[in-house]
Amino acid sequence: MKFDTPNFSKPWKIAIEEHFAIEDTMGDSAAYATGKKDAWQKLSSNLGDFTKQRIEQMDATGIDVSILSLNSPAVQGIFDKSRAVQVARRSNDAVASAMAKHSGRFRSFAALPMQDPDEAIKELKRCVKELGFVGALINGYTQIGQEDASYYLDLPKYRPFWAEVEKLNVPVYLHPREPLESQQRAYDGHPWLLGAAWAFGVETATHALRLIGSGLFDEHPKLKVLIGHLGEGLPFSIWRFEHRNLVDPRGLNLKKKASLYFYENFYVTTSGNYRTQALINTILEMGSDHIMYATDYPFESMVETEEWFRAIDISLEDQIKIGRLNALKLFGLETKLSKEVAA
Ligand code: ZN
Repeated sequence: MKFDTPNFSKPWKIAIEEHFAIEDTMGDSAAYATGKKDAWQKLSSNLGDFTKQRIEQMDATGIDVSILSLNSPAVQGIFDKSRAVQVARRSNDAVASAMAKHSGRFRSFAALPMQDPDEAIKELKRCVKELGFVGALINGYTQIGQEDASYYLDLPKYRPFWAEVEKLNVPVYLHPREPLESQQRAYDGHPWLLGAAWAFGVETATHALRLIGSGLFDEHPKLKVLIGHLGEGLPFSIWRFEHRNLVDPRGLNLKKKASLYFYENFYVTTSGNYRTQALINTILEMGSDHIMYATDYPFESMVETEEWFRAIDISLEDQIKIGRLNALKLFGLETKLSKEVAA
């Protein structure tokens, strides 16, 4: 890798969980604009913007490239298959045109209609091969045909999709969404436990463990799955999961120890979890090569994430890997800044 030490006076970081919304999906985020009176006005304006405050904040917080993704649950929450296909395409076309207008500052993850695995494969291929996307971001389970239905990505119907992902050699970001309403009884009377505060993490960590437990990575060992929020609690819990399953496998039949899939097939990001103690635990558990910078903008703040990241007490080498190098390597990115430095 030619790019060794960033020129800190220029935006140098790659941020990889940065959201936008299109008209069809904007309303999905309204539930997360609570608190201050103008919260929704601000959140919706930030989600709909590519050109103004997003770029200003990237410049102000040292982000060279943002890898953009649609808000949540968006396409995964559309019960009607053909509408899901249309909305995914509209979203991918919208972000492709933002990428083209701001050359170099944006890349994108594809939104995919998992309601129809064949269409999802088609759309992923179009996005990667024709539009230059770097992978896909899927908002957890998918609802198909009705509200009370959850199709998780470990199900056999998705194996051809994963085979194609492995062939294309692109990562898939497994992003949170709320549990189905019928599964929310544990949260009854405690609305503060839903969303990013707690339920997102439990839902996504469970989904990630389903992928591991299903043998997906034995079948497709080159797959790369990204999860946000410093691993949704898994760096803290993976040992216990593995330990209990070694004592009592309850049907679990994997070629390797569960933690090895987590270390080899998973990458985690700092999105929405700017906590040094948690980061250090994550580095101790999985090393610094599979951790990447992300802000979860606009649900979290680019400024607060940067203030934390700039001051963290880890080695400069790890800071540069997490802030930039790991993403350059994983996505095979070449940015304008890399070219300047290499020249
Ligand atoms: Zn997010």
